[in-house]
Amino acid sequence: MSTDVAVIGAGIIGCATALQLARDGASVTVYDRSGIAAGASGRNNGLIEHPYDAATESLYEHSVELLGEVLGEGFPRDPVGTLLLAQDAAQAQSIAAAHRRFPSLEPRLLDPAATRAAEPLLAEGFWGCMLRTGYPVMPREATEAFAQRAREAGVRFLLGAPVELVRERGQVVAVRAGEAQQRAGDVLAATGAELGTLLGDLVPDGVVRALWGVIVSVTLPERPRHPLIEGALASAHGSGDVEVEAPFTLLDSPSWLAVGSTMLEGQRPDPELWSARLLARGARFVPSIARAQVRDVLVCARPRSFDNRPLLGRVPGQQRLWLAGGHGGRGMSTGPASALLIARAILSGDDESIPPALSARRLSDR
Ligand SMILES: Cc1cc2nc3c(=O)[nH]c(=O)nc-3n(C[C@H](O)[C@H](O)[C@H](O)COP(=O)(O)OP(=O)(O)OC[C@H]3O[C@@H](n4cnc5c(N)ncnc54)[C@H](O)[C@@H]3O)c2cc1C
Repeated sequence: MSTDVAVIGAGIIGCATALQLARDGASVTVYDRSGIAAGASGRNNGLIEHPYDAATESLYEHSVELLGEVLGEGFPRDPVGTLLLAQDAAQAQSIAAAHRRFPSLEPRLLDPAATRAAEPLLAEGFWGCMLRTGYPVMPREATEAFAQRAREAGVRFLLGAPVELVRERGQVVAVRAGEAQQRAGDVLAATGAELGTLLGDLVPDGVVRALWGVIVSVTLPERPRHPLIEGALASAHGSGDVEVEAPFTLLDSPSWLAVGSTMLEGQRPDPELWSARLLARGARFVPSIARAQVRDVLVCARPRSFDNRPLLGRVPGQQRLWLAGGHGGRGMSTGPASALLIARAILSGDDESIPPALSARRLSDR
């Protein structure tokens, strides 16, 4: 059996890329070890949010359009407004100033009275900065919607077996899923936080690392009006270097109301330990979290690249092997547009049109 393009990984990146490839006439097979949205794409906060990075801003804007097209009525027409929380006026001013780099966010500084008026669940005393971003979606449903469109465009899904790459004279030419082997014209690696495991010695160590997120799904007497994000996390916007291991966020998606989220490197974190810490910290911001009913605790890895930006393009030294990954904590918000870039590169056989800040050519410099 053979296929034009074998896509490995049925997360938002793999499913959205498969859709685009099939629309452009390729015969495509998507493989996943588990199922559609089995990784981060089914277990995240579902907030379509500005990436606060000039290199990926246009990916976000384009992804908002693509999500709107694929989800239709299921995608909000306007952003709900994201509220960044600061301890004092100086921190709030510096957060607002940093976000003025992106005029579309229309940052608005709020004093403590205005902050509480915007979000009555908050404890007193916080300053705020309101940003024009934040479209809540159900992450699993969003990914499945891309997969469904892809099926309708003729894409085959082979789920339930881990995939390995098959090489001939050093070049990847086929994939092996369980016992079955399939030759492919091109192969796309879109395995999220496990990109390095799949690609092995074809890429430098640590190209994409797991940044572990623990999120606590809760029930509160009242739901927040806006996504709430602690200033320590907001200050890291763009760089991705968060000094606090468990910054407070309270994000309300149609799937779950989530207190979160950790930013942890290394081993998979202990959910019980971290959920207790997240709830204790969260109660300082939103007092009713102290009485929250816990529904579930989710642990999942963000696929974070070495420089916190997506990696798109040909794997160095390979003719027909491509990669798309490293979207970190913004893959739902930027991934659909990344998918278009990588699909076009695969079909043209040339990744020159991928902007240098996002190109896999960055790997050759490492
Ligand atoms: C706690 C948390 C909260 C987040 N919140 C947000 C948010 O609010 N907004 C936002 O935009 N982003 C958010 N993200 C980030 C977002 O979830 C990811 O960037 C995005 O889902 C990555 O998509 P992906 O397709 O690259 O990877 P994944 O969704 O992880 O997909 C990879 C797939 O590859 C499969 N796979 C792996 N290895 C193999 C193999 N060898 N063979 C076959 N299949 C394999 C896996 O089963 C998986 O299905 C969050 C992430 C986390 C962890």
